[in-house]
Amino acid sequence: MHTVISRQPRQRGPVPRRDVIERDAGRCQRCGAVVLSAARSVHHRLARSRGGRDNPANLILLCGTGTAGCHGWVHAHPRQARATGLTVMTGRDPALVPVLTGPRGEVLLGDDWTVTPAL
Ligand SMILES: [Zn+2]
Repeated sequence: MHTVISRQPRQRGPVPRRDVIERDAGRCQRCGAVVLSAARSVHHRLARSRGGRDNPANLILLCGTGTAGCHGWVHAHPRQARATGLTVMTGRDPALVPVLTGPRGEVLLGDDWTVTPAL
């Protein structure tokens, strides 16, 4: 029973925020809340300062900002965020690190926009 959401892969260039929002069905991937434009942000699982890029596997929709909501929680609780895959350690490939989401359970986010249940 796999739910795979497939999109055309992009080879280059920044990932439009709307593609992340669409893949994540407009829901915060931690708490599952439907988030409106003013109250959501696209989180880099591997921080840009640590080499993270704008590839689909590295981006996830969260409610709040860098200091509020689930995005704020991730930055305030680095150990728990790492344990659930919302953040990824330096040197690891986000596409290979499962992330525990509220809406979908534990999944792997692919760089081809797939969402695959982690077994
Ligand atoms: Zn949330």
